[in-house]
Amino acid sequence: MSASGASPHLRLPSIDSLLRHPACQPLAERYGRDVLLTTLRQLLDELRDAVQQGLVQAIEVSPEVLAGRVGERLQAQHRSHVRRVFNLTGTVLHTNLGRALLPDEAIEAVQMAARYPLNLEFDLHSGKRGDRDDLIEGLIRELTGAEAVTVVNNNAAAVLLSLNSLGARKEGIISRGELIEIGGAFRIPDIMARAGVKLHEVGTTNRTHARDYEAAIGPRSGLLMRVHASNYSIEGFTTRVPTAELAQLAHQHGLPLLEDLGSGSLLDLTRWGLPAEPTVRQALLDGADIVTFSGDKLLGGPQAGLIVGRKELIGKIKKNPLKRALRVDKLTLAALEAVLGLYRNPDRLAERLPSLRLLTRPQADILVQAQRLQPTLARQLGEGWSVSALPALGMIGSGSQPVARLPSAALCLRPNTSKRLRGRSLLALESALRGLPVPVLGRIDYDALWLDLRQLDDEPAWLAQLDHLKVEGRAG
Ligand SMILES: *Cc1c(COP(=O)(O)O)cnc(C)c1O
Repeated sequence: MSASGASPHLRLPSIDSLLRHPACQPLAERYGRDVLLTTLRQLLDELRDAVQQGLVQAIEVSPEVLAGRVGERLQAQHRSHVRRVFNLTGTVLHTNLGRALLPDEAIEAVQMAARYPLNLEFDLHSGKRGDRDDLIEGLIRELTGAEAVTVVNNNAAAVLLSLNSLGARKEGIISRGELIEIGGAFRIPDIMARAGVKLHEVGTTNRTHARDYEAAIGPRSGLLMRVHASNYSIEGFTTRVPTAELAQLAHQHGLPLLEDLGSGSLLDLTRWGLPAEPTVRQALLDGADIVTFSGDKLLGGPQAGLIVGRKELIGKIKKNPLKRALRVDKLTLAALEAVLGLYRNPDRLAERLPSLRLLTRPQADILVQAQRLQPTLARQLGEGWSVSALPALGMIGSGSQPVARLPSAALCLRPNTSKRLRGRSLLALESALRGLPVPVLGRIDYDALWLDLRQLDDEPAWLAQLDHLKVEGRAG
């Protein structure tokens, strides 16, 4: 397309003249001369062919326009890759979207820990070297009833470290029904192998009895293990040995019982009308010797793996050289302490801990919000789309209660196109929402795009950017 007005004799300005041009000065100032130079070169290289073929107008290679284009590129390059998004998927603790949101108390603690030196491994009473676990040990013991505590980077690390510390070169006995894969490369048999524990599986997928464990116990046994089946459920003809009975059996043979609770909870969630999850305290009361769980699942804190249980075993775990490789940093500890502090007052937890506040939002409130936002979104999308406010079902996420659904409400967006084109329209809308300044993530289900509003806290920010939404099929 040889544009009229394009000159075949047009020349690109030289790099030097551009660098000296006033329009480029602020860019050099902001991003540095070297980066500016590289980006200018790239742009000129890309334009060269088109200029030679006379496809470019003079205005397009003016220093002002070139500086503008380079400025846009530099801005894009310098934009953070870590970006805020709106999680309207309906899954609250979404592993791919960062799981739990921290309460203000934890954010302040993280800022303090980031900004100033602190007593990370320094005992302010004695003036001697301290242990970073000491900072949160008292709180965790109080909240779980555990004798001792240690904290690592995540629950996967907690499981690996516990297995390796207590069962290396011995057999770990576990039910076939608990040989789970959590996602990614976290599979119990593989983690056991990496921990140096020989897997001794017993029972069947759906039914494992006490006698199955008992028959497996022998001179090579190192521990019994129980894993919370986080992301699936087996129903029907099933049997599993209660933790209390399993612990008794382990102790009769002088073996420890290690329980990976996955999400685990410090409190009974049914008091907030949520599905029951096993609590850490109960697992310990039942006799589990070591219990591991995540910091950023139901606990609602930073990514961390908490290991609690018998003092002597925790001592062994802390002496393992792997502990050093898996330890948490000061920011995590600061956040974790602040979150745990909120648990001391359960009556106010649901208003202060964001994950619990979101999980307990009543469906009626969410529906009212959806009804309020419906007209605005309908207007923005135009005649190509039907927008309705509907009840919907969400999930807790992160392997808590895989089959339980959270009654929620959503904006349901349906393309008014023929059935044949519907899939394409939905994908285009999904992509447009993802392209917003703060990307909006929903889910496609039943030929519609659903925006579950349980987690839409910041309504003004969400509304403010709707003007940027460009969708095909929008009525002009
Ligand atoms: C989620 C989960 C893990 C892994 O925990 P992370 O904190 O994500 O490392 C391990 N075991 C179970 C049972 C889980 O549900």
